[in-house]
Amino acid sequence: MRYISTRGQAPALNFEDVLLAGLATDGGLYVPENLPRFTQEEIASWAGLPYHELAFRVMRPFVTGSIPDADFKKILEETYGVFSHNAVAPLRQLNGNEWVLELFHGPTLAFKDFALQLLGRLLDYVLEKRGERVVIVGATSGDTGSAAIEGCKHCENVDIFILHPHNRVSEVQRRQMTTIFGENIHNIAIEGNFDDCQEMVKASFADQGFLKGTRLVAVNSINWARIMAQIVYYFHAALQLGGPARSVAFSVPTGNFGDIFAGYLARNMGLPINQLIVATNRNDILHRFMSGNQYVKETLHATLSPSMDIMVSSNFERLLFDLHGRNGAAIAGLMDSFKQGGGFSVEQERWTEARKLFDSLAVDDAQTCETIAEVFEQTGEVLDPHTAIGVKAARECRRSLDIPMVILGTAHPVKFPDAVLKAGVGKALELPVHLSDLFERDERCTVLPNDLKAVQAFVSQHGNRGKPL
Ligand SMILES: *Cc1c(COP(=O)(O)O)cnc(C)c1O
Repeated sequence: MRYISTRGQAPALNFEDVLLAGLATDGGLYVPENLPRFTQEEIASWAGLPYHELAFRVMRPFVTGSIPDADFKKILEETYGVFSHNAVAPLRQLNGNEWVLELFHGPTLAFKDFALQLLGRLLDYVLEKRGERVVIVGATSGDTGSAAIEGCKHCENVDIFILHPHNRVSEVQRRQMTTIFGENIHNIAIEGNFDDCQEMVKASFADQGFLKGTRLVAVNSINWARIMAQIVYYFHAALQLGGPARSVAFSVPTGNFGDIFAGYLARNMGLPINQLIVATNRNDILHRFMSGNQYVKETLHATLSPSMDIMVSSNFERLLFDLHGRNGAAIAGLMDSFKQGGGFSVEQERWTEARKLFDSLAVDDAQTCETIAEVFEQTGEVLDPHTAIGVKAARECRRSLDIPMVILGTAHPVKFPDAVLKAGVGKALELPVHLSDLFERDERCTVLPNDLKAVQAFVSQHGNRGKPL
């Protein structure tokens, strides 16, 4: 499989190189040159497979030529073996024909484990073969950092540095990062905000001199391997609900558009999906595009669903690329005007094309709490605030009651106790067994000033299993 850039000016890469790449050299994002397409009979024949075997069938075409089948199977079996639920991604019924796909049974209790557990293992496999080491520098406002550290903690060939804003992530989220020890794991608390952390990561990709030749790898959802891993659970859910003979609809709590883009790809690979709902919080740039064809940056608001607090959605560029007939020059132009003027709209027929599949809703904090309370009353289930936004949007935007509606359950409610408390759900939430002593564990973290040079010096001092690069 070959991968091309959404801006048309970077060299095509194979899977291995895409895994190790960040942005393409032209500033674009990598996508498969040709998407695999499965027949209905083929998809139907996968019903009842264990999750890792389904994952093998769905992802195999993407890694062909880079990873032999037997090795890939083994990696997948290990990856999904660490999830605490036998079904890996169980479906739970809320109402008639309304389901939550629980994606929070991984080590860090959010859906990001599906991709980052795999990414860590793939990196180590490829690097071992090449005899190389890499450094990861990533920024997090919460979920990505812990999932990336969990995914990479056993990697022999990776040193991971995760930057989080000092005193600005929840205690559960911080402890999920800082209580994991290893010579190759480095938590840095920056005396600044999340944007400061993200800017430092960007600047480090732009100027890598401090790495003395060691390669820098991205762990945010611009990394293709993350999107790839997320395609699988759309197949998994649909197969349990009568697919592919029957269509299914999905409602997806959305920030950077990575998770829902995987659903769009599943549909293009042959899975009958009749509707994808973009569910956002008050940071609603995607809702404003879907409802009014305006992609315009606005100020950032802190919400009860912090993992969706974004101003722009990096993966949206991948959808725009398809909507523009995969014309890289057109995307480069759009992104340029976005950078200069802060916004754009697309031609009417392209927008209409998107709306055939996508609907959207923006849900504020008050509605989020109302939905948590409502679902608790109806079912006894406690939803996390991100999932609650998905449920609200599903109920408002659903096109057909005959088609099963699946809401992606993106996080476990115990990660976001503030929202659950505000919703007035009086049920004490307990940490799952593997995290039950989280609040007693020792923490390891280095506080650094909001200064790029200080951070880069720290990375080069510790980037080789704690020793200098
Ligand atoms: C990351 C995250 C999201 C948003 O997913 P995107 O792929 O960025 O759209 C939603 N919910 C939770 C809990 C998350 O951690």
